[in-house]
Amino acid sequence: MKQISIAIDGPSGAGKSTLARKAAATLGYLYVDTGAIYRTVALSAVRRGIDPADAAGLVPTLSELDIRLEYGQDGLQHMYLNGEDVSQAIRVHEISQHASTVSAIPEVRAFLLDLQQDLARKNNVIMDGRDIGTVVLPDADVKIFLTASPESRAQRRHLELQQRGQDADFDTVLRDIIKRDEQDTNRPIAPLRQAEDAVLVDTTHLDLEQSLQAILAVIREKI
Ligand code: C5P
Repeated sequence: MKQISIAIDGPSGAGKSTLARKAAATLGYLYVDTGAIYRTVALSAVRRGIDPADAAGLVPTLSELDIRLEYGQDGLQHMYLNGEDVSQAIRVHEISQHASTVSAIPEVRAFLLDLQQDLARKNNVIMDGRDIGTVVLPDADVKIFLTASPESRAQRRHLELQQRGQDADFDTVLRDIIKRDEQDTNRPIAPLRQAEDAVLVDTTHLDLEQSLQAILAVIREKI
């Protein structure tokens, strides 16, 4: 039986993961956070003392990586790196930038493609990332491009970091968001861009519940 897939792409801090997770729970689909997979590769590089920008150093280690997604009883996605649950470790601030750096390496993207496509073959999924509608699942049943102004994305990210007890000042968070946008949008391979058949949802002036309803409305219209 063909599984249904929903692709949600957009820049960092647009609320993709929170909204995709909630929408998936509402619909009973599997939520796949692909950013977490790139973060796991970045963490592995850092732990091995490899500069995340050093493709020649990083690529040969990929075959030694055992990256797995598992879903806890809470329904949350956990990332495992060679058997260790690294779900918390990949959330620290510096790993965000490193994930963006490793994700520009073509061999890293190719290495992770199968893993992502396989999940969509076997499950009804809501998958979020940067290139899901354009590269990973070009035939997705629904494609949404979720965005918001850099300032409102930085505000949300700042709050999120504070809630996790991580110290970061607003200007640094905003600067990092703009830098990541630039890196993700301008890379030659799988750049962040809206697929032609994706529906644009801008959450700048919407709260969480309104954003969720906007996404569910797009999905229900298409499925
Ligand atoms: O979504 P998140 O902020 O966790 O993603 C971290 C980084 O991983 C992004 O800045 C982006 O460069 C990269 N990424 C990607 N393709 C995806 C998901 C994430 O290149 N599908």
